[in-house]
Amino acid sequence: RAKAAGRDRWAVFDEAMREQAVHILDLEADLRRAINGEGFVAFYQPIVRLSDHAVVGHEALLRWRHERRGLLLPGEFIGLGEDSGLIEEVDWVMYRQVTQRLAMGGEGYLSINVSPRHFRSADFADRLLHLLDDAGADPSRLRIEITEVALLDDVPRALRTLRTLRSHGVLAQLDDFGTGFSALSYLHRFPIECLKIDQSFVAGLVGENQTESIAVVRAIQALAGTLGIHTIGEGIETEAQRRVLRELGCGQGQGYLFGRPAENMVSAVALAVGH
Ligand code: C2E
Ligand code: MG
Ligand code: MG
Ligand code: MG
Repeated sequence: RAKAAGRDRWAVFDEAMREQAVHILDLEADLRRAINGEGFVAFYQPIVRLSDHAVVGHEALLRWRHERRGLLLPGEFIGLGEDSGLIEEVDWVMYRQVTQRLAMGGEGYLSINVSPRHFRSADFADRLLHLLDDAGADPSRLRIEITEVALLDDVPRALRTLRTLRSHGVLAQLDDFGTGFSALSYLHRFPIECLKIDQSFVAGLVGENQTESIAVVRAIQALAGTLGIHTIGEGIETEAQRRVLRELGCGQGQGYLFGRPAENMVSAVALAVGH
């Protein structure tokens, strides 16, 4: 009896695994097709000055308009794109859109996300500068967002890439800061313009266990102060989070409180009461 029940469980398990495998293969085939089509769209989320909600720029966030599955978020397909090596191509489709958008004018900067592996490819900087040139976009209005892993894997190369980009006006921001190594000893070597405080700490600023998050944000602010750079709080959803961030010295922020990622950019965000 026990044996039979065990076999049944395995049968169920096999079926689930088969479906999962088919799902992944489907999605990968779709991904290949979408790269040549028009499935990928850039959504833009405003980044604001916390003192008066002035919009300083927008982060471009990748969306996939899938014909059957609807609007997909990066979390639903980026892992797959990385495994199959397709993410770089998807990124270039995305970056092309962003540079074209920049060339249309407007104010503030646009930031793009670059995965560590992509950042490490030898021709990344040249290709990006080429794309800007092709589109006729101003490089100083583009920023790249990278994570710490991207810097530490091959330090000389990362330095070269960042310096090349910076010499053309493209600045770099460190994304999801606080979740990696976050060490002063190496950070000062890199031309980084700002630290984006990971949203997990912002979420923790108010409510239970807030002491930990406050300590982390305080440490990040101290680090940024030493480096002479500024910070952006990510994932700000409430007025209370905004207030605590400001009190801790964070000057800029991004989050649903100010605006969700959307196809259209905003030029102003309504000032909340009691700032
Ligand atoms: P990220 O760069 O840290 O982007 C911030 C994420 O937080 C975005 O998720 C954004 O929609 C979400 N977010 C913004 N405000 C709030 C808020 O108030 N509350 C909460 N809970 N979330 C908020 P999204 O768009 O799903 O992107 C996830 C990640 O995918 C990004 O994290 C980035 O690492 C990656 N990604 C996005 N676009 C691209 C791209 O074009 N290329 C590559 N390689 N990666 C991308
Ligand atoms: Mg980002
Ligand atoms: Mg982030
Ligand atoms: Mg993140």
